[in-house]
Amino acid sequence: KKYGNPPPTIFSKIINKTIPADIIYEDEKSLAFRDVNPQGPVHFLVIPKTLIPRISLVADDDTELLGHLLVVASKVAKKEGLTKGYRLVINDGPLGAQSVYHLHIHVIGGRQMGWPPG
Ligand code: 5GP
Repeated sequence: KKYGNPPPTIFSKIINKTIPADIIYEDEKSLAFRDVNPQGPVHFLVIPKTLIPRISLVADDDTELLGHLLVVASKVAKKEGLTKGYRLVINDGPLGAQSVYHLHIHVIGGRQMGWPPG
């Protein structure tokens, strides 16, 4: 397999619906659900249904899927009413503060963001 045999995370259980999540969008390739520890009035995660552990491992043949995840993030942000802007974040690895090793795009909005991030 492309990424070896990475251990499934809690997000696989959300995909399988074996644990509950507040799912706000789903299609055959992706899922969006609210973060359990929101960092703003709106905070959801967009994930691929296939287990890619982290952004630093993606390959050329992930291009279409990664583009799809960004389009989903944008569409769901609009549906969530984030008309004045929002923040997308992908954390990678220990220095990037990644805690769940199933690729996810954070979408955070509904408040003023700062830059640079901490
Ligand atoms: P990371 O630090 O890996 O970029 O972000 C992981 C995110 O997943 C965190 O914001 C955390 O709150 C969220 N998270 C972890 N476990 C769960 C869970 O079981 N359900 C939901 N909805 N979010 C989770």
